[in-house]
Amino acid sequence: MKKAIALLSGGFDSLLAVRIMQKQGFEVIGLNVITPFCDTSAAAQEAAEMLGIECRYVKTDDSYLELVRHPRYGYGKGVNPCLDCHLYMIRRAKELMEELDADIVVTGEVIGQRPMSQQRHHLEMLDYHSGIQGRLIRPICGKLLPPTEAELTGIVDREQLYALSGRARTPLHQLGTELGIEKIKTSMAGCVLTEISFAPRVRDLIRHETDQTEAWEYEILRFGRHIRLDRETKVVLGRRESDCDFLSAKFRECCAERADVMYWEPESYMGPSVMLIGRIDGETMRFAQDMQVGYSKNAVPGNIQLHRYHKTEEWIEAFEPTEGFDIKKFKTL
Ligand code: SF4
Repeated sequence: MKKAIALLSGGFDSLLAVRIMQKQGFEVIGLNVITPFCDTSAAAQEAAEMLGIECRYVKTDDSYLELVRHPRYGYGKGVNPCLDCHLYMIRRAKELMEELDADIVVTGEVIGQRPMSQQRHHLEMLDYHSGIQGRLIRPICGKLLPPTEAELTGIVDREQLYALSGRARTPLHQLGTELGIEKIKTSMAGCVLTEISFAPRVRDLIRHETDQTEAWEYEILRFGRHIRLDRETKVVLGRRESDCDFLSAKFRECCAERADVMYWEPESYMGPSVMLIGRIDGETMRFAQDMQVGYSKNAVPGNIQLHRYHKTEEWIEAFEPTEGFDIKKFKTL
């Protein structure tokens, strides 16, 4: 049976692309790429179940962060290096294609849909630099593109590809109805790199990176409040319970060897967790603790206990807030 690897984000277009190839008799295996800034794995799982296909999940590696720092093809309106990111994902799909001895890679790209990353010359660039020119198929708009090697050799039937283009959603939804595809129910959080308000966090981390900086420091950018104290030092405060859970998990997973990371959870009241990264001394620790208390409605001076974690050690300590400390003086990134 002919085999295709499809990049599967769970977005409607990726489902359409899979179904078109299934109709051509391909066994399709989905590939969902999880980045530190965009996790669509839950949507992809629902999509895979709806389509009746296997889906594999891969996390990006350090080379992905390098393209976020220095994208060859530039950023979109935020710090989203979409073309570099697409290229990265197609290359990961190529690796899986080779591993599983598949025939083609399939994407849900639509020519002209995204001005910054899906114009004709963008698709040509992706073809060329992905290393799978001729075997990269865009079923939704394939008829508008030059015939690929896979079409010329008969692996893919060009007649069964489509010729949709542009930003209009109605033709895609009509095609979905024709192919029996519905929107999935799982809500998809978008990629935070596209958010203009998120860009300062990424730029700040890039600017202040040291040899010590690790991938998890990019992962936590999506969570909580981030406040820079000085060139070396940053405070991260959970805003919601899920932020605190994520910070806690990352601390336990990644910081056993890191003398420059400290973490506190409130012990005697409900409030946010706080992480201090960088210069750890009396001054910065006090800032972090005061900020933690500053964002806690329930902290009562005289009865504040914090649970402190540093490397593999932990202990409970009392804390008295600094008189006159004003949390509003500190700008969040
Ligand atoms: S929006 Fe984010 S995940 Fe999507 S291509 Fe752009 S950078 Fe990559």
